[in-house]
Amino acid sequence: MEKAWYKVWPKDVPRHFIFEDKVLENYVEEHARTNPDDTAVYFYGKIMTYGELADMYLRLASQLHARGVGKGDTVALYMENSPQFIMAFLAVQRLGAIAVPMNPMFKRAELSHLLGDAEPKAIFVQENLLEHLCPVLPEFPGLRIISTALTDFAPDHPEFPMSFAPMERTISRLPGEERILELIHFDDPIPPANACLDDTAVLQYTSGTTGMPKGAELTHRNIVANAFSFRDGVGTKPRDRHLAAMPLFHVIGLINCMGSPLCNGGAIMLFHRFVPDVVLEAIHKLKIQHWVSTATMNIAVINHPNAGNYDLSSLSGCLSGGAPVPKPIFERFYEVTRTRLLEGYGLSETTAQITMNFMENARIGSAGIPLMDADVRVVAMDDPTVEVPPGQQGELAFKGPMVMKGYWKNPQATADAFVDGWFLTGDLGYVDEDGYVHISGRKKELIKSSGFSVFPNEVESIMHKHPAIKEVCVVGVAHDYRGEEVKAYVVLKEEAVGKVTEQDVVEWAKEHMAVYKYPRKVEFLNELPKTGSGKLLRRVLYERANQIQEA
Ligand code: AMP
Repeated sequence: MEKAWYKVWPKDVPRHFIFEDKVLENYVEEHARTNPDDTAVYFYGKIMTYGELADMYLRLASQLHARGVGKGDTVALYMENSPQFIMAFLAVQRLGAIAVPMNPMFKRAELSHLLGDAEPKAIFVQENLLEHLCPVLPEFPGLRIISTALTDFAPDHPEFPMSFAPMERTISRLPGEERILELIHFDDPIPPANACLDDTAVLQYTSGTTGMPKGAELTHRNIVANAFSFRDGVGTKPRDRHLAAMPLFHVIGLINCMGSPLCNGGAIMLFHRFVPDVVLEAIHKLKIQHWVSTATMNIAVINHPNAGNYDLSSLSGCLSGGAPVPKPIFERFYEVTRTRLLEGYGLSETTAQITMNFMENARIGSAGIPLMDADVRVVAMDDPTVEVPPGQQGELAFKGPMVMKGYWKNPQATADAFVDGWFLTGDLGYVDEDGYVHISGRKKELIKSSGFSVFPNEVESIMHKHPAIKEVCVVGVAHDYRGEEVKAYVVLKEEAVGKVTEQDVVEWAKEHMAVYKYPRKVEFLNELPKTGSGKLLRRVLYERANQIQEA
């Protein structure tokens, strides 16, 4: 059936993807064979070529294999962004084992939950994170620990000659601990590639903004689909330079900053963490072409006082995902970078983006159109079996090659998440007459004020037009009369601090929005609470506004 968005589908982007019988790791190995000298990873002045990368991860795979890690086993990656993360990920994939990226900000309780749920056979851990891991080790007697030493990395550090040597040290010792893998000898045979497209490749634990994290089972097909949909959608070429300042444990970092460059012979310009100055300088000096980020990062960069001092004209494809991009940000982004920001939308469960704006026919304010071979449906909020007509609000549901298999060892959660094969996102929105998807908020974020529905994203987008507002988060506060009242938590731009009052912002909002919608309460904060991947922790502010104590 002809879909509405086929009419606005860009001429140069294929609408279907023809899968070869290859997983991401096969593409990397192939590129390493044909173009061994191409840059695979750039990390603070050091370069690792595809040839070196393949050599390292294949050896690492052989060591893991020799110690009993094989197809279907889970292996956790408790590491910050580093070349080691990439090597470990590829080694695990080579064996047909399942990678479990873990947020390096996780502490004892979160680690205990994740390790208990994913049951990894081995865990790669950065040395400085061992202090958090060690207290939970007694709960997991079978777990093998691979400790990696790359934590105090400094640019041009003499101890870091991008060779296999650091990986040997990685496998360093943990005093009194017997479960350390000693991966010092490299004479084991390289194990054959062992993964098929429909095997599980990754357990992507969702960001934890809702309940206890669940492991979204992403297959190799899911990963290949999205790595290539980014390549085709943005038009990346082999040897292009991709900024990787998003955390690799998050699905956007994993797929867009790491997987997509790797599938296409691109260079991953890797950063340990996101620092606006460093990113600006890197784009300028390293002539970076592609940048995938969240709205929070874009806002930080374009509001940076020195943004104008850098030449950012090398940028040609900038995708923003994970959160809505307020409309004024698009214009400012263009002013600063001279390239257009393209908004995409997706979840851990859809292996990052499942809709995206393309350069051709981008519609600002929308999350774009479904990516290749994906399909969208809007269903009634109270009955997901009923589809609502175009233009009407409902819950967004998707099908497509990037939609997860299900939740790891959680048939109930999987059954609840799918209706007739459609994945229910828990996000509210609508599809306009041309097929563009618009996100209005999450189901449970919906604020009901005097019986009217208020979508936080919409109010936030309007608030962003206030010249003094840098960041804003809107939540509902219980109210005796109205049911809920709208409250805005606001971070002011530096120059406005002390000059603009909370009451000024309320007055401004009252002038700009319907009476049921404008925030009647405004509170200034120095910063908004966020997850490790930069996603706003709306729940925390909701609890603060409603004085809900953590149990
Ligand atoms: P995660 O699984 O951590 O990637 O979070 C996925 C959630 O991020 C989605 O369910 C949405 O609520 C939100 N999200 C992602 N992209 C967008 C977007 N472009 N606009 C609004 N919300 C978004």
